[in-house]
Amino acid sequence: MVRYVANPEDAVLDAAKDMLRRGLVEGTAGNISARREDGNIVITPSSVDYADMVLDDLVLVDSEGAVLTAKDGRSPSTEMSLHLACYRAFDDIGSVIHSHPVWATMFAVARQSIPACVDEFAVYCGGEIRCAEYAASGSPDVGDNAVKALQDRAAALIANHGLVAVGPRPDKVLHVTALVERTAQIAWGARALGGPVPIPDEVNKNFASVYGYLRQNPM
Ligand SMILES: [Zn+2]
Repeated sequence: MVRYVANPEDAVLDAAKDMLRRGLVEGTAGNISARREDGNIVITPSSVDYADMVLDDLVLVDSEGAVLTAKDGRSPSTEMSLHLACYRAFDDIGSVIHSHPVWATMFAVARQSIPACVDEFAVYCGGEIRCAEYAASGSPDVGDNAVKALQDRAAALIANHGLVAVGPRPDKVLHVTALVERTAQIAWGARALGGPVPIPDEVNKNFASVYGYLRQNPM
């Protein structure tokens, strides 16, 4: 079964406003999408400020990226192909958020994974957040590389660029985005204190299996 989002337009717009409120994005950067029951994708437009965005601004595309509905002058996010690659690869996701939050992007620039060093992080994210292999923005490899890094995970770093997160609904994916960003900040600080002490493998493995269960049975 392919997962989809109920009322996807409202869910995308609400998450977009919330993302701005939480300081995870600035101006027009980053983008949010959701899969509809008919398989088409609702996505935020390029170059529209989140503060001014209304339902009418959202763009509807098919699974190949052809525009089905767009208000005059609106076009889908330039990073749409990253979203489409995620939907193609994972039937069990209903939403994708791509963002450039500062702390997570620091790890993406250093091309280092964000360790699952905070208890229960793996429940929400599946384990450490890997950094995808580098690909130039706009090239199809960005999506392909992200998909590889996303295996069994709710998020992946896009090398020298930012973050992508996936999940059942925009609000859940926004939660993952915020949690990864917070954990990146904590991991960085813990390094200044001598480095994070790892959580026992077995504990993180158990948390990861809870993630696997919740991914199939989202609440
Ligand atoms: Zn980006």
